[in-house]
Amino acid sequence: MAYQVFALKWRPENFDDVVGQEHVTATLKNAISKGRIAHAYLFAGPRGVGKTSTARILAKALNCKEGPTVQPCQKCSSCLEISQARSLDVIEIDGASNRGIDEIRILRENVKFSPVNGKYKIYIIDEVHMLTTEAFNALLKTLEEPPEFVKFIFATTQAHKVLSTVLSRCQRFDFKRVPVVKVIEQLNKIVAKEKIRLDNDVLFAVARASDGSLRDAESILDQLISFTKDKISLSDVISVLGVVRHEVLFDITDKIIQKDGKGALELLNSIIDEGKDTAMFLMDLIEHFRNLMVLKVSQADFTLVDLPQDICERLERQSSAFTLDEIFSAFNVLVNTQEMARRLDSLRIPLEIGLIKLTQNKARAEGESYVKPVENKPAGIEKKPVVREAKVEKQPEPPARAREIVPEDPAPEAPAPEEPDSGAVQSSSLQEIKDKWQKIIDNLTKVKISAATYLNEGCPSKLDKNTLTISFPKNYSLHKEALEMKDNKAILEKTISQVMNATIRLNLILTKEEARREEIQATPFIKSALDAFNARPLNGN
Ligand SMILES: [Zn+2]
Repeated sequence: MAYQVFALKWRPENFDDVVGQEHVTATLKNAISKGRIAHAYLFAGPRGVGKTSTARILAKALNCKEGPTVQPCQKCSSCLEISQARSLDVIEIDGASNRGIDEIRILRENVKFSPVNGKYKIYIIDEVHMLTTEAFNALLKTLEEPPEFVKFIFATTQAHKVLSTVLSRCQRFDFKRVPVVKVIEQLNKIVAKEKIRLDNDVLFAVARASDGSLRDAESILDQLISFTKDKISLSDVISVLGVVRHEVLFDITDKIIQKDGKGALELLNSIIDEGKDTAMFLMDLIEHFRNLMVLKVSQADFTLVDLPQDICERLERQSSAFTLDEIFSAFNVLVNTQEMARRLDSLRIPLEIGLIKLTQNKARAEGESYVKPVENKPAGIEKKPVVREAKVEKQPEPPARAREIVPEDPAPEAPAPEEPDSGAVQSSSLQEIKDKWQKIIDNLTKVKISAATYLNEGCPSKLDKNTLTISFPKNYSLHKEALEMKDNKAILEKTISQVMNATIRLNLILTKEEARREEIQATPFIKSALDAFNARPLNGN
């Protein structure tokens, strides 16, 4: 049998197989069993979360020989034809490629003919917001007086662009991003059935990167498997994925904290250059501020944020840089940005204005560090305004605090506090590197932002002749591995060598310590995934 991509092969066939959209499928099943089926449905939500799959299942449920039924038989000719996308009664139109009025006119002509085999004639129009206004208006005429046997299922990633006259005739369902835990569960099912050997930490990284799109997670898994023959490692995941998405949200928020309008614009520019979806970025940024607010108000109740522990910790630290009022006003600015984008039909300029406003609104005194040492628990990884000292793995571990946090001295030439146990270290030269660490990160940012982001989580811990050891907390192995990839390492060595005016080679290590480890307040499954993530041997994959 020909190779089938996972997203197709594992496409849900029944309502109960749809992952993470129980609020939708339960209502649909209920409506079917009560015989209260609407004329038109609108499935709204982000890409890759199961909208068209659910539309096909609904079509099957309606046209199954046993139907309408909540449990289509999957065996009758109608079920089989719909599964194989060759049913004459289920017409799928891609709004993105059929924007024209002609297609809708044909639809209007054909709508009046009875279904061939099934009870209903079902039109599934994907990305319906892409239809032109004329096509919409033509569609509306059909929607107003549809024959009894016609059903419409519209899907859209941008419900706000669907005309209100269409919206008002549809029963609307909002699909959600699939929670990380559920994505991992689904990936686990796939790898088990496909007999693929994959560590939990790899699945976890894939799930994280897919950001709630099950289809994305499945296709990343596909790419990984075609990309490597043997065992898949975390660095493979990083190569396939590029930059971890959340990094950019943390970075841009740091720019806001630092009131660095120029830096924010440069970051935005690189996002646009990389072809990322700016609308999605804006939504993500709004969600980022939502998470900052939630963690601030809940005093770091991580269960309220559907993100991995380490991200939550960073969010919590970043949230301490804002007052609640500042977060509210940030929401206002971002929502206004969306409004403006809608009116201008462009996102770049509103985003630029929004980001500048945000950097201006930030009332905090400049240079003030937003990171406070946390009492009685090991402190986590910090962002730029902070110089960290991590102990190298050979050295004894202090019991209560994994590392010290020292706010950056505003005068760059003032030496940072000496590490007490740096006996083996050529302290003068290492100290020079530490003093220029921020400059190294800044310079690296200009060359490759992602590498700088990764480096930001490590700290210089030892200098032996010309070999500089940079240590990363062991739960940041992803960052270490990313920097060890050939290009990154070369860029990094070059940047450090330039700043230090000497040839420096690099040795990247993991410390025994973690950025922070507390009781994980998550489901047993995510806990075991996290355990596996952290329990890896220090340097291996
Ligand atoms: Zn059937």
